[in-house]
Amino acid sequence: MSATRDQGFPRRRLLRTAAAGAVAAGAVAAGAAAPASAAAPAAGPADATADGVTFRWFGTSGWRIDIGARTVLVDPYLTRFPTGLFTKPFNANTPLTTNEDLVTGHVGSPELVLVTHSHWDHFSDVPFIAATTTAQIVGTETTYHLLRAYGVDPARIIVVKGGEVLDFGGYAVQAVAARHSRNAAHGYFAPGTLHGTAVPPRPETIADLPEGDTLAFHVSVDGGPSAFFMGASDFSERDTAGLRPDVAMIAPPTSTSTRTYVPRLLTALGCPRTVVPVHWDNFETSLTEPPRRDPAVDWDAFLRQVGTASPQSRVVVPEYLTPYRFV
Ligand SMILES: [Zn+2]
Repeated sequence: MSATRDQGFPRRRLLRTAAAGAVAAGAVAAGAAAPASAAAPAAGPADATADGVTFRWFGTSGWRIDIGARTVLVDPYLTRFPTGLFTKPFNANTPLTTNEDLVTGHVGSPELVLVTHSHWDHFSDVPFIAATTTAQIVGTETTYHLLRAYGVDPARIIVVKGGEVLDFGGYAVQAVAARHSRNAAHGYFAPGTLHGTAVPPRPETIADLPEGDTLAFHVSVDGGPSAFFMGASDFSERDTAGLRPDVAMIAPPTSTSTRTYVPRLLTALGCPRTVVPVHWDNFETSLTEPPRRDPAVDWDAFLRQVGTASPQSRVVVPEYLTPYRFV
């Protein structure tokens, strides 16, 4: 499949008319997306236009997208409880906890929550969000079973496998089959899936949340930008080719186990105008502090690879909870 063929989300009018301002990938422009000061979510009626779309990074691969007055979340993990992953020793039996006030203070009133996979740093605040909002949740069958374990009404859970293009009126969500990040031994933490019809026991620890297969999402706003969201640093080249998002939230690799990951990914995505690295931070520190890099990420190598593979892309290194416009 050609990497330049459009799969149904044409590059947007505003992209073509946007001022040429590409920043070479080597010159990282932290916070260099459109002005944040003017990017407060609209308080008026839903207005699915580019002017009404803001993106806030929750750290890890989490995002809040405000499309006018409508809110969509991606992997909203805000509690960031310690597991020892970064301080060692790692405790896979760490109990699952949710900081309810913190989560409530940041998620707004989402109509949709997109879950890339069900590891705790993506999923573990989602049951609380489901219980306290009317959002529908999009995820894998494993995410479905886990949410049912928390008592979520199955009618609110949208199971996808990748390839689905869901129309929500004003924007569309394409589910994209993806893959989980590989460690140096070519494996990954807590593989496993939940299938069948039985409701599993309610998870108690992070080890009770298997990966459950991994998705990416391509969110395309009518008349506005389209954005590609990853939850882990691997992908399916054939499922990704031709998406052509305006902005790509991509995860740098934490190992070299996946061959030519960055150039294959950026080529498949059509060399997006804007690249936003995600899931590169220590996700066990407070969102009130500046992001700290995960030492497993070779930042310089990643930037070099982006600059070589997609020299016209600008790289925007996000700050926590800061509104960005990507037009
Ligand atoms: Zn994971």
